[in-house]
Amino acid sequence: MIKIALVGNPNCGKTTLFNGLTGGNQYVGNWPGVTVEKKEGLLQGHKDVTIQDLPGIYSLSPYSLEEVIARGYLLQEHPDAIINIIDSTNIERNLYLTTQLLELGIPMVLALNMTDIIRKRGDVIDTCELAAKFGCAVVEISALNKEGILEAAEQAILLAQTKMVPKPLALFENKIEKVIGEIETIIAPQVVAGESRWYAVKLFERDQQIVKMLGLEPATTELIGKLVAASEDQEDDDAESIITAGRYGYIAQVINRIVHKAQAPGTLTVSDKIDRIVTNRILALPIFAFIMFCVYYISMSGVGALVTDWVNDEFFGEMVAGNLSAWMESAGCAEWLTGLVVEGIVGGVGAVLGFVPQMLILFLMLSILEDVGYMSRVAFIMDRIFRRFGLSGKSFIPMLVASGCGVPGIMASRTIENDRDRKMTIMTTTFIPCGAKMPIVALFAGALFDGSGLIATSAYFIGVAAVIISGIILKKTKMFAGDPAPFVMELPSYHMPYATNILRSTWERGSSFIIKAGTIILLSSIILWFLQSFGYVDGAWEMVEDNNGSVLAVLGNTIAPIFAPLGFGKWQAAVASITGLIAKENVVSTYGVLYGFAEVAEDGQEIWSNLAADFTQLSAYSFMIFNLLCAPCFAAIGAIRREMNNAKWTAFAVGYMCGFAYVMALIVYQFGLYFLEGHWSLGTVAAAFCLATLLYLLFRPAPEEAAEAIDMKKISWNE
Ligand code: GDP
Ligand code: MG
Repeated sequence: MIKIALVGNPNCGKTTLFNGLTGGNQYVGNWPGVTVEKKEGLLQGHKDVTIQDLPGIYSLSPYSLEEVIARGYLLQEHPDAIINIIDSTNIERNLYLTTQLLELGIPMVLALNMTDIIRKRGDVIDTCELAAKFGCAVVEISALNKEGILEAAEQAILLAQTKMVPKPLALFENKIEKVIGEIETIIAPQVVAGESRWYAVKLFERDQQIVKMLGLEPATTELIGKLVAASEDQEDDDAESIITAGRYGYIAQVINRIVHKAQAPGTLTVSDKIDRIVTNRILALPIFAFIMFCVYYISMSGVGALVTDWVNDEFFGEMVAGNLSAWMESAGCAEWLTGLVVEGIVGGVGAVLGFVPQMLILFLMLSILEDVGYMSRVAFIMDRIFRRFGLSGKSFIPMLVASGCGVPGIMASRTIENDRDRKMTIMTTTFIPCGAKMPIVALFAGALFDGSGLIATSAYFIGVAAVIISGIILKKTKMFAGDPAPFVMELPSYHMPYATNILRSTWERGSSFIIKAGTIILLSSIILWFLQSFGYVDGAWEMVEDNNGSVLAVLGNTIAPIFAPLGFGKWQAAVASITGLIAKENVVSTYGVLYGFAEVAEDGQEIWSNLAADFTQLSAYSFMIFNLLCAPCFAAIGAIRREMNNAKWTAFAVGYMCGFAYVMALIVYQFGLYFLEGHWSLGTVAAAFCLATLLYLLFRPAPEEAAEAIDMKKISWNE
């Protein structure tokens, strides 16, 4: 078995290359114990060659979780070869990592990616010179066009078989090289010969993890420390800077002989010209707003709505449900079975599947924007705004996707490299109202607010406010302290969309939505149907006529008092909130069932008068706030679990959302009562206390950053 690792900076094209090399033959999971994605696959046409996609990194220092994982993998798993992917349009910065990889004593191929762009610009990269100066094989590729990728893989296999290890470069001044040589001699007993230079350089940089990893004697550490301190004195600089300067110095020295630009420096490419307009300080936001308006108009109101209406009304309503119940009756099925299948299963699952066309169209358009390169610009534009409340611009794409469905939204957070930023994004993304929450809004807007459009608009404002408030509050806790990772995403050149890329990512997002309907919602629809149809009457289980006597009502009554301070203490409201956890669109259909309507329209028009009797405008608004912000549906919680890769974090995320929703609804309802009706009670005091706490959490000073030591030992490489 030959193991090849793909290593490179973020956005250099690793994933594109990985997909090209492995085809559909891949396994996606997480690195054990952490939220960083792990992708592994078999090289197409080779049963004995595995390809490992490592997280994108800029260096092999232990400063981020990604770096720790990548270097831990390289040091401990010893892949047989490395393919170091270089973004040729940013060659200078990418080579910095290369200088470090060369020291690891692992056979390595430099894959110069994005050469299609280089060619288009008329630039020339002298690969022979590059190979000579860096002492390793160089292959020109275009991962996007699948050019040269097999050659790169074959080259890596060849090197792995012959175990051709590159010779480390003498990057530093003679004095420093001499010290590093001395350190190599000192640690020689502890390390394998080929790796001694890597460890020596790291020890020169005073990398504490390496000290621990090698288990050096205190006397040895002290000896090395003295050598390093002497060099620092001599150079009048700290050890890490000396090493960094040495690496960049070497690259700067050789780069002019390697890269020959066709155009004078400063000439703008077409991509640059587009960016001048699209990321312009003044125009960027209006252009973005216009594009998003078109995307949503087409998917939600235009084509999407037409198809969705047809699927909901004609397909599931008439064709499936109608025919099925007629057929089951004629076949002599028991009444409860027909009820279960038609109302429970087709009703529940159909409600979700009805959204599929809208979602697919939305995801298709977002995928196109992503593939042509516009989404990276969106992240870049939004970064200026999001940074103010502790999130990175990259959090915006998950939220955009979550406005369709939270499940793919949470999954989209994978593209955020920084662990804390990603966790925070996962925790706040589902505050943005998804497609399935809109019927709840429409129901209450119709029943109590004359269908005012302001209510729907305010739903988005509530979501955005929840994201902002949570961002600020969470960022001030120890867990999330520290600035969001600096925005160093390269803006890839614009290119024409590729059908395969677009269809793949549309399908990845769409299928997670469809799977949600087929699994968790199917199961919960069945359970829910039983709970609301059966009850314990006169000491016997039986199907209840009136669901006031159902198990569901008993459950609802038990927990209803919890919601009384929020203004909706009736059991129906409690039950609707619970069924909302199964799927948010269930809230409307549950209310329909509870008020005795088997079938209600999407906005629940039939039950508006019942609701108007049970709610005031204030309690309705409070109910809406709670249901928009509290834990998302089970499928989304499942996605959070998958992405967090940790049960405690999942519980924390869900608990936070529920608590936040409760507090917000409490504040709005109790203060509403006080200001509108002059009514105050213990609830008002509680709300005032919550508000004060919230304001304190918002405005207290941020704590000092507690540098979190990442323990490499906790991460095991062999699952
Ligand atoms: P990763 O972060 O290293 O996994 O990078 P990705 O594979 O996600 O690629 C980042 C961006 O570069 C995407 O927009 C790709 O379409 C684009 N890209 C990747 N390889 C090439 C290439 O060879 N040529 C061009 N023009 N674009 C590429
Ligand atoms: Mg990637």
